[in-house]
Amino acid sequence: MQIAKTIKEVRTQVKTWKSEGLTVGLVPTMGYLHEGHGSLITRARKENDRVVVSVFVNPMQFGPGEDLESYPRDLEKDSAYCESLGADLIFHPEPEEMYTAGFCSYVDMSVLTEELCGLSRPVHFRGVCTVVNKLFNIVQPNRAYFGQKDAQQLAVIRRMVEDLNMDLEIVGCPIVREEDGLAKSSRNTYLSDEERAAALVLSKAVKLGEELVKAGERDAKKIVSEMSALIQKEPLARIDYVKAVDGLTMQQIDTVKSPMLVALAVFIGKTRLIDNFAV
Ligand code: AMP
Repeated sequence: MQIAKTIKEVRTQVKTWKSEGLTVGLVPTMGYLHEGHGSLITRARKENDRVVVSVFVNPMQFGPGEDLESYPRDLEKDSAYCESLGADLIFHPEPEEMYTAGFCSYVDMSVLTEELCGLSRPVHFRGVCTVVNKLFNIVQPNRAYFGQKDAQQLAVIRRMVEDLNMDLEIVGCPIVREEDGLAKSSRNTYLSDEERAAALVLSKAVKLGEELVKAGERDAKKIVSEMSALIQKEPLARIDYVKAVDGLTMQQIDTVKSPMLVALAVFIGKTRLIDNFAV
């Protein structure tokens, strides 16, 4: 497995693969990999001749006061994990490689990015769309893999690919959870033991919401308010949002429909965690 730090190295390798008629799958990540990322890499391994994993903590998608500096990093462990899953190349650029002096071009989106996480993280999706676009241009993948864990991000990227006529397939992969239900996340490492226990309230709320839908509840506002009430019982939890939205446009809805996304962001102490379920 190759580790490339420059765009030139990636392009040279991909050019060779493409000239041999091989297909390429891309898994964009910020590193500190866990089994959630692993499920994307494994899926990419099954569906493509070559697999590229990008490991890049993208400064552009962090707002002021967010956790850019403290975001966990461990390239050595990530490399061993990627290799064990059969990845062919890790792209691990420095920020200066991705954003050269004078950088001033962005991919911006309206509507979908103005709800949910976009409200509390106003620069986040501009950073995501811009870096994902750059990664697509650098790696030229046939397929790119994203987790349903970041459901709004997945919807935003699908929309961007359609709107801008990008020639690749976007593959969404299910949420991977810890045994007790907590969605796996690199940010779970921030949690103290007490917070780790309190964080279970997110997946419990998701389960409650899913059960209500299964039982035939059609009032999306009722589902959201019951989930919120459950979370509010946890003293260490502070709700950023709990919302039911149209699964494609991310606009709030009052009645259960398909596709629908019920998404939540909750602070456990200082750590902001997200979870969701789709209908
Ligand atoms: P990140 O490194 O957090 O930017 O995540 C990189 C990719 O892995 C994104 O597409 C995430 O949605 C996906 N991912 C992260 N955690 C999980 C999880 N628990 N289950 C499935 N996919 C995940």
